[in-house]
Amino acid sequence: MKKKKVAIIGAGYTGMIIAKELCHEYDVDLIDARNEIGGMTATFDAYGTDLEYFYRHIFKSDKYAIDLIKELGLDDMMEWNVTRMGYYVKDKGSYDFGTPISLLKFKPLDLWSKFRFGLGFIKIKLIRDYHKLENVTADEWLSKNLNKKSYECIFKPLLISKFGEAYKEISMVWLWNKLVARNSSSKNNGEALGYLKGSYSKLTKKVEEYLKDNGVKIILNTSITNITKSNNKYKLITGTYDKVIMTSSLPVCKELIKGLNIDKTYAKKLISVDYTAAKVLVLFLKKSFMPYYWLNIGDSDIPFGGLIQHTNMQDKKMYGNNHVLYISNYMYPDNPLYKMNKDELLDEYLPHLKKINPDFDKKWVKRVEVYHEDFAQQIVKNNYYKHIPDNKIPHEQLYVASMAQIYPEDRGMNNAIKLGIEVANLIIKNDNK
Ligand SMILES: Cc1cc2nc3c(=O)[nH]c(=O)nc-3n(C[C@H](O)[C@H](O)[C@H](O)COP(=O)(O)OP(=O)(O)OC[C@H]3O[C@@H](n4cnc5c(N)ncnc54)[C@H](O)[C@@H]3O)c2cc1C
Repeated sequence: MKKKKVAIIGAGYTGMIIAKELCHEYDVDLIDARNEIGGMTATFDAYGTDLEYFYRHIFKSDKYAIDLIKELGLDDMMEWNVTRMGYYVKDKGSYDFGTPISLLKFKPLDLWSKFRFGLGFIKIKLIRDYHKLENVTADEWLSKNLNKKSYECIFKPLLISKFGEAYKEISMVWLWNKLVARNSSSKNNGEALGYLKGSYSKLTKKVEEYLKDNGVKIILNTSITNITKSNNKYKLITGTYDKVIMTSSLPVCKELIKGLNIDKTYAKKLISVDYTAAKVLVLFLKKSFMPYYWLNIGDSDIPFGGLIQHTNMQDKKMYGNNHVLYISNYMYPDNPLYKMNKDELLDEYLPHLKKINPDFDKKWVKRVEVYHEDFAQQIVKNNYYKHIPDNKIPHEQLYVASMAQIYPEDRGMNNAIKLGIEVANLIIKNDNK
């Protein structure tokens, strides 16, 4: 019997996994606007080794990612390194952070504030049922359960650096999930984070090989701009299909189906989630910038939210003996920094980098790369679940498998894989009804 023809728009991890799960029963086209698959996990050549444009690690609890790595025979390349985290406090400097001992030694907070912070932290981790938090913002919960000083010194700057003005609206469910997800990776001396030696491009290539071996047609450099329908088939510039699965951000999905007569309530949901964008600068340095893998920036005068020194987790020999420093910045696309090129952005950041490490000099910088993503993080507000559209569009053979549908967990490679498996199973189940 002729197999049904399916188009998957977007070859990030969600789209790749849907293709992997469907390829035995369907005739699959996997389409992406970019010139390679992998989406946000894209890499570039860093002195002979692939390196992600967006810093990358997984947690011990990332079961779906770990299972995929094992299934494709890469588990002996997986490294779990205990990493050191720091916190930069305005006018005070950088401090170790993230372990019970570091909290005790954390000078910017007095003993009482540390106690309240520690107690609040334990209280969050003891919450089992997140539904009780649906109506509470992180700002409200933390203001009530920590003291003002510890909230304003630690959590508030973190929320602002990720969500800007929207920080007051972020649901406590989002923060709860972030902290609980990291639980299994926490060690007394730091956090064990997983990295695939030589980059996650190794995994992407393995999935790509699997897809090609199983008949998936991968169509790159092709941006889909709309979907039309006639005789119960969907038309894209790449062909005619029985089903289409969209893995783009929700507003892009809405745009793709604007010519179709979609259920109005459903269509409305596609524009009811907001996003922040992200712009990440990657610096190759002659000298080490800091002793930490991850440094959170708790200073609203500094225009970026975090520094990640990748070579404190991986050997710098892999990258031509250079130290790799990511400068992470979540922002809205109307922020002037979002339009800057890599040199302008570096010039903007230099005085702030010097504030954090006074010895730092522009001469340390050997190479700069920049990467951005317009829909980098969904903004999870109270009662977020009410805004999530179903995976199947009513009365159509159209499916949405988008990062913003992941809840209560946060986005991430692991959850993209999980979403891909769930949506593929849903499609198979619906067809077998
Ligand atoms: C700065 C940053 C750091 C991160 N760090 C980590 C980390 O350390 N660990 C982790 O697990 N996760 C991390 N993530 C999150 C993780 O990368 C994502 O959650 C995951 O990769 C999303 O996969 P996806 O398939 O849903 O989306 P994407 O990877 O965005 O894939 C969607 C694909 O669809 C394509 N597309 C969209 N619209 C169209 C169209 N109309 N036509 C054709 N193609 C289209 C895009 O080109 C893209 O390739 C990070 C994200 C960011 C922004």
